[in-house]
Amino acid sequence: MNIEEFPEFDNHRSIHFLQDKSTGLRAFVAIHRGGINYPSFGATRYWEYKNEEEAIRDVLRLSRGMSYKSAMAGLIYGGAKAVIMAGLVKDKKAVLRAYAEKLNYLTGHFVTGTDVGMTKEDLLVMARVSDNFVGLKANPEKSTVDGVCEALKVCIQEVFNDIDLSKRSFSVQGLGKTGVGIIEKLYEQGATIFATDINKKKISEISRSFPKINICSPESIYSKNVDVFVPCALSHSINKKSIKRLRVKIIAGSANNQLENEDLGVQLMVKGILYAPDYIVNAGGLISVINEYESNRQEALEEKIKNIGVNIRKIITTSRRQKKPTNFIANRIAENIFNNAS
Ligand code: NAD
Repeated sequence: MNIEEFPEFDNHRSIHFLQDKSTGLRAFVAIHRGGINYPSFGATRYWEYKNEEEAIRDVLRLSRGMSYKSAMAGLIYGGAKAVIMAGLVKDKKAVLRAYAEKLNYLTGHFVTGTDVGMTKEDLLVMARVSDNFVGLKANPEKSTVDGVCEALKVCIQEVFNDIDLSKRSFSVQGLGKTGVGIIEKLYEQGATIFATDINKKKISEISRSFPKINICSPESIYSKNVDVFVPCALSHSINKKSIKRLRVKIIAGSANNQLENEDLGVQLMVKGILYAPDYIVNAGGLISVINEYESNRQEALEEKIKNIGVNIRKIITTSRRQKKPTNFIANRIAENIFNNAS
């Protein structure tokens, strides 16, 4: 295996292998960018990888994505990420303790929290062993939702020249922590909402809490004739198949990696759909844990979350001026920031 030949490798600062035989720990940490005087940030994922190559490629890709998010949120920290291979683990708590102990050898250059496969209880286990964890005081989901709503307001104003949400319609894909939070805010403003999830329990819960919501199937969500599509489920929701069915004017949601590839941004532009780049829109979670790390000041947090809307407006303006897709504009600005930061 030659790591430098993986397409996900992007001259990462460093890649670490953390191993502990007695517990079965096998984990990788990738630090994509960041200066020597500041830590790099990114959550830790706990996942059943088929093999080490799959885990390494995932950690390279995810850490790189964090640099885009951090740069566009105006944060000085570089992007990083860790993955723990869950396959051989018998005692998760023991593995997490071993992982946290090994992180201490990185002497604070990597600060992390919980990603897919991790809970708040897991975070408490690790935080007892290492100071390199955040997310104990912050509420990342709430901040993500607040940030998405800031972005939605700006996009709606830009496209419809009117921010009255009661006149607007939305299709929300994914009724998890962030999807439901966004629905709550849209619902209270009287918006028309279509929603879907692959989990039936989530559907009954949402119908009970928000009786005026229109439930639809996971497949039909793409063809709803609404103003805004709000992806809040998994990656690559916008792909060569789904894009043909979209009839919306705006796409803005919490999900990571919404576009299957960068070229889809061109197709969205041609179709007259305003795409709000996902890593700008959903940066609220990262902003909140960094705020916890720095100061835990509520006013500072609110100001940075509001800035998500400001950033989106700048990207839209530049995209219109240069006649280039919003994702393309954002990617080049972010790359310029993180590749030139020391
Ligand atoms: P979650 O796990 O709470 O919810 C995701 C929901 O999507 C689940 O209910 C799941 O059943 C549903 N789902 C999965 N595939 C689907 C499909 N094909 N169609 C419809 N529903 C589907 O996750 P979350 O915390 O709400 O995060 C959602 C997305 O936002 C993820 O991509 C996540 O990486 C991203 N994100 C989350 C945060 C955060 O603060 N939680 C921050 C930044 C980005």
